[in-house]
Amino acid sequence: MFFRRAREDRAFREAQRAGFALLLRLQATQPWPDFSQQTAPAPAAGEAVAPDFLPPDLRVPSGQEVAGVMMRWLQPLVIDGDVRTCPECGAYRDWIVFCLRDDSVWLRCRAGHETKEPGLGAAWFNRHSGPVDRFHPTLEEGLRHLGH
Ligand SMILES: [Zn+2]
Repeated sequence: MFFRRAREDRAFREAQRAGFALLLRLQATQPWPDFSQQTAPAPAAGEAVAPDFLPPDLRVPSGQEVAGVMMRWLQPLVIDGDVRTCPECGAYRDWIVFCLRDDSVWLRCRAGHETKEPGLGAAWFNRHSGPVDRFHPTLEEGLRHLGH
């Protein structure tokens, strides 16, 4: 019963948030911009601890394996009073927000256009994302999990 209760609480907590923070392995196949140049040490945000009962593929990997953290951002994203829009298709909501190992933040619209957001950084991302509680071995799996 305890386990079931904990799972329900977890699902509720997850549903409350706009998105999940996700981890990606460095060897993820999706070529992100500047991806191969990421040599800086992982930020502390990647050092989440997973409970022992999780299967190995859900455990958080060591910092060296983490390419970045991602979350879904459903509402319009306002930065310094301006609503961010995708330069390619004009989308202004339902973003996937990435925070890469060099602390850069990228926005990915529903259509898959990726734009670096110089007005945001790891500090902003960590303030707005929940604790890292899931891990996906590839970017594609992470996007699918977030509904993109
Ligand atoms: Zn777009």
